[in-house]
Parts: sequence; structure tokens; C-alpha cells
Amino acid sequence: MKKIIIGNWKLNLDHLEAIQLLQKINYSLPDNIEDKIEIILSPSFTSIRSLQTVISSDKLKIKLSSQNVSQFSSGAYTGEVSATQLKKLEIDYGIVGHSERRTLFNEIDLVINDKVNRLIENDIVPVFCFGERIEERKSGSYFNFIENQINEGLKGLRKDKVNKLVVAYEPIWAIGTGEVASLENIVEVLDFVKNIISKKPFFNEDNIKFIYGGSVSPDNAQEILNSKIIDGVLVGGASLDATKFVDIIKAVEL
Ligand code: PEP
Repeated sequence: MKKIIIGNWKLNLDHLEAIQLLQKINYSLPDNIEDKIEIILSPSFTSIRSLQTVISSDKLKIKLSSQNVSQFSSGAYTGEVSATQLKKLEIDYGIVGHSERRTLFNEIDLVINDKVNRLIENDIVPVFCFGERIEERKSGSYFNFIENQINEGLKGLRKDKVNKLVVAYEPIWAIGTGEVASLENIVEVLDFVKNIISKKPFFNEDNIKFIYGGSVSPDNAQEILNSKIIDGVLVGGASLDATKFVDIIKAVEL
């Protein structure tokens, strides 16, 4: 299975800076890397159109993801961006349920489930994020916590609709902290989650990828990316530095 590497730029870069970083990353990529690794960038909404124009006119093999999407399709929802609008911009992926959305913007499972559905209806692959807080990790209750996030966030999905899905384990204590989860931690949780998802009606072994995110850097990427259990990584901070991001991509043993 092709590994996927997603760079989440969060609330950083205006559209001109975003174009520069895209070009820098693209320039440093080994030839034909896209045949072996799927590379996805997730900029702010304001940069998507500019990046999409560069990608399509220069025929770059980098794909785009949104960082968020509205739970609504259209209507009187000031400030929202719909999945249909994103699809017109040739977005392939959409991050949903990122812990920063869950904790800072009070996004609950019900809303996240709606967002997953809006993306699927528009043929955009959801990058569904889940993960425990330090409290659940320390108390040992993280399995229950995660099971609930998976069951509620991916509720009611139908096999005939879910073409592809990315499921990203992002323990909150590892995001932006420099504290990376151990390979043992990651494999334990991804195994647990794969087992839950394998019993869901939408399960399709070939079309669901299980990835990890949380302080991934060139120093730890090799171990994580070359594990057979882990299909890729979601990279925050290090994706804002072209050299670091490309070094993470190069860590995949081809
Ligand atoms: C993220 O934003 O999803 C993330 C994993 O961030 P960082 O790599 O900075 O921990």
C-alpha cells in the first residue's frame, strides 16, 4: 500500500507564502516519488485556490486537503465553507475532527460525523482524526475513549458510499509538544482501532489507511514510516519547513 504523508499547515502562511513553500517542497522531492508516496498539503482556505492553480498548471503530483469543512451543505451559515465548494477547487482530502477543532472550537462527535458525511457525499476523502488526552493515557482509560470517538465519529457510514478513508491517530499529548508516541503506543492503538473498524459495514481493507500524527520529525520518521502497521503520517510543525518535510518523505524506504 502506498504510504501517505500529509502536511498540516494550520493557521500559518498567506497565499503567497503558501505558493513559495509548495514550490520549495516540490523542487526538493526526488523524481517520481509520487508513484510510491502520496503527498498531501493542507493549507488555510485562503491559499487553496492559489495552490490548486499552481498544481494544475505545473502538473505537480502533490494533492490538497482542507483543514476543516462545514457540517452544512449550503444556506445561512455565515463563515462556513462547504464540501461542495471545496470539491470545485479539486480538493482530494479533508481533515476532520482534529484535536485543535475538538478542544479549542468545541467540536463534538455529532458535528464531526456530519462533516465526515458531507465530505463523502462530495467524493472528498475524510482524514478522520482521533486520540486521547494525557488524562486518559495516564489513567489507562484511553481504549474506551478512543472506541467512543471512532463509533460516534464514523457512525452510519455506508460501504457503497465510502470509497476511501484515512484514520489518523493523533494523541493530544503528542501534538505540537515534541513528545512523540512510541512505536509500541502507536501500533497498540492502531491495531485496536483496525479491529473496531474491521467490524463496521463500511470496512474495505484496501481503501482505509491508518496513519499517525504527533511531533513527527526527520529524527523519528524513519521508525514510524517503515512500520508495516502504519500507512503514513500527519505532520504539523515540521511541514512548514520544506527541508524537514522532504526529509520526512525521504525517510520512507522504497
Ligand atoms: C497536527 O497538527 O496534526 C500535528 C500532528 O502537529 P505536530 O506535528 O506539530 O505535532
